[in-house]
Amino acid sequence: MLVLSCGTCATNAPDGSECMPCASCGDVLNVTYDRGLTLPRDARVVFRSRLTSHALHERSGVWRFRELLPPVNDSQIVTLQEGNAPELPAERSAAWSGLEGLSVKNLGCNPTGSYKDAGMTVAVTRARVAGAKVLACASTGNTSASLAVYAARAGLPAVVLLPAGHVPTSKLAQALDAGAIALGIDGDFDVAMQAARELALRGAVYLVNSLNPFRREGQKTVAFELLESRGWRVPDWVIVPGGNLGHCVALAQGFAQAQALGLAERVPRIAVVQAAGAAPFVRAWQQNEPLVPVHATTFATAIKIGNPVSWRPALRALHATGGTAIAIEDDRIAEARAVLARDGLACEPASAATLAGALALRERGTIDEAADVVALLTGSSLKDVASIERYHGDPSKTLANPLRRVAGDMASLERAIAEALR
Ligand SMILES: *Cc1c(COP(=O)(O)O)cnc(C)c1O
Ligand SMILES: [Zn+2]
Repeated sequence: MLVLSCGTCATNAPDGSECMPCASCGDVLNVTYDRGLTLPRDARVVFRSRLTSHALHERSGVWRFRELLPPVNDSQIVTLQEGNAPELPAERSAAWSGLEGLSVKNLGCNPTGSYKDAGMTVAVTRARVAGAKVLACASTGNTSASLAVYAARAGLPAVVLLPAGHVPTSKLAQALDAGAIALGIDGDFDVAMQAARELALRGAVYLVNSLNPFRREGQKTVAFELLESRGWRVPDWVIVPGGNLGHCVALAQGFAQAQALGLAERVPRIAVVQAAGAAPFVRAWQQNEPLVPVHATTFATAIKIGNPVSWRPALRALHATGGTAIAIEDDRIAEARAVLARDGLACEPASAATLAGALALRERGTIDEAADVVALLTGSSLKDVASIERYHGDPSKTLANPLRRVAGDMASLERAIAEALR
């Protein structure tokens, strides 16, 4: 049996209240399993062997860990075979950040191009089981793209609330294309989030933002997938960008469960990276005080959030893992993004905050040069091509690589190539 309970005041919430925060204290709810989680026999072998299954949902990087998730019938699972994102070495990025080695887990390889899919498959499956009629989210772009696509697969209507004019074109296009009802509202993400919460409170919609603990149940499988793919060798550090802070909380929860179930020896330390213009959580962490919302400004739109919902469990996650939080200026994030791209690992700006964070934590001596570090690249570079074009069109940028206009005759072409190779 599943129980929804509050991580701060331990109050249990009635069945079906997953779209709302705790009624007593306002913190987000967690899914807990009253009989605990039971692994299959030879769990490591079973998890791995499902990768070669003929059943779509078994190969999913989320559902191959289904013993760790809310139980559902196979036929109810809404999946696009998400997850199983590759972890790859990033040599130039390692050198840039002062590490001997660095690997990146490229979650942009998910079906809609972001980490959001790992949680969305579980939330939309749950919504369908619960008989939800209309699904909804507030979004800086990626949650709306993911919800739109998974709702389309489930045959359910989706409403997405977006800060009008502040969502990259490709993310909006994904939501429109999948048939979501896209509502662009005046105001930033935090205003959209508040409106979405009120809609959910009125019972008008089933909310799938990460305040919904079923989203985080799916997201936590990234921790299991990460460990499984490296033979359950635990890295020293996992670096993740922080916006609404659902990802870092879910990851910490996944690592803790892997340790409790005897699959991993320890947990990695988690570093949360925010953009300097949207860093209320870093402040709360450094001062060890309740979060004070800010008006968020950053070009990394996926983490442009001034009033993150999951700050309380995120603080607990950093304390529990011996982690840290750090804020990075946009210029540094842009350069880190370009460095990753030169490693063949392009991502959207928010994701590159992780590499910029690695450099800053090396400079402070928090992370050792020889540490085993994994940076999570949360979204694909194709999510925000406008910011990439802007970077390469600006000659003041270190790695600017502009389009070269040239006549089509052989002499001009050969001259242009020779010049470029010099
Ligand atoms: C959603 C998102 C984040 C932030 O995740 P939170 O759970 O909101 O902290 C970071 N990067 C990308 C690409 C995202 O889509
Ligand atoms: Zn509570």
